[in-house]
Amino acid sequence: MPLSPPETQQLDAILPTEPLLLMGAGPVPISHAVSRANGVVINHLGETMDAVISNVKLMGRYAFQTVSDKIIGVSGPASAAMEMGITNILWPGRSVLALSMGTFSGRMAEMAEGVGADVTVLESSGIAPVRLEQVREALAKEHFDVVTLVQGETSCGVKMKCLPEVAQLAKEHGALLVVDAVCTLTTMPMQMDEWGVDIAIAGGQKGLSSIPGVSLIAFSDDAWQTIESRKARQPHWCLDAVRAQTFWGSQQYHYTAPVPGILALHEALRQICEETLPLRFERHRISSIALQAGIEAMGLRLFVPIKDRLNSVVAICTPKDTSSAQVRKIMSNRFNVEISGAFGLDIMRIGQMGEQCRSHNLFKVLYALGMSCRQKGVDLDVSLGMAELESNLVIDPEYLVD
Ligand SMILES: *Cc1c(COP(=O)(O)O)cnc(C)c1O
Repeated sequence: MPLSPPETQQLDAILPTEPLLLMGAGPVPISHAVSRANGVVINHLGETMDAVISNVKLMGRYAFQTVSDKIIGVSGPASAAMEMGITNILWPGRSVLALSMGTFSGRMAEMAEGVGADVTVLESSGIAPVRLEQVREALAKEHFDVVTLVQGETSCGVKMKCLPEVAQLAKEHGALLVVDAVCTLTTMPMQMDEWGVDIAIAGGQKGLSSIPGVSLIAFSDDAWQTIESRKARQPHWCLDAVRAQTFWGSQQYHYTAPVPGILALHEALRQICEETLPLRFERHRISSIALQAGIEAMGLRLFVPIKDRLNSVVAICTPKDTSSAQVRKIMSNRFNVEISGAFGLDIMRIGQMGEQCRSHNLFKVLYALGMSCRQKGVDLDVSLGMAELESNLVIDPEYLVD
């Protein structure tokens, strides 16, 4: 019997009248220019698209700080870009040292196992990044073809401060370095060429403040040579970097590109170029430091010690006698602000990526957090927190306004 159509529901009936302010660990709010671009569909081949692609590559080079022309957009989540990076340079018989300090760094190890590479996982201990000494020892003991790490571990709010030193060690030992910069790219320095990063990965919905579902990846000459000299069969078709380069390098058909998402990425990158990286880093730093100061002044504790603390995603210890889920529920229902919980850790996470770092968003999220905790009986000085936030925004306040 043929199926009859189900009862339908207008999207407007499901969506809240006023969208929640996305102050979690991603996706993040998008600018009007990005949103408008995302509503446009044009042909994925032809002169107009060629111009869009060459702009995206040019602006992508600036974002990654590389002169490489191997900048490729990926139709898929940041994880798909990670998978493109990992699976193109690894195959059975190749070895990888995976620096793990949380969910996303661990994910690259899983992907490497998936393609049959020999994977050694180097774990961090406690709330900290993997230490440079650990990497030095591991690389001295045996040869690895590839080293993988995450610049900012979104899952717990820890940053890999010694990335440049690890990159240098990897070079000295003849290993390619893969860096997941999904949450950090354009929120803090990432010097792909200067540091010697071979593969750098960015997602749309985090640091770049574009939409989820279209990601960006950059390959160094060394990484590209490895890919081109590959004899092992490439198990992927969509994620085959050489095939993808037919579109991103020669504007020829590979698969139908995610046109609206690429147009959105174009606008996100253009706004990054207009802002300039130094000012953008400063906006993120000051915004996050002021937020952290406000959180602590209120009486809440931050999860990561300052020396390893990531600014792009701030992890907060859940106060005693309440739960992250309870607090976040009040924040959503009463204040229309959404922040994140975590996978397996008793923390709440506030994002400081792209459009999240605007003064009006900071005041809104801090007030919502403080008042929601208070509603659950936590004794906090919300006024003191708000005052501390205000006095730490030592930047022209206009600049933090959209
Ligand atoms: C969010 C995130 C990812 C995964 O992004 P998806 O788009 O969900 O695949 C990977 N790495 C880091 C550091 C992230 O923050």
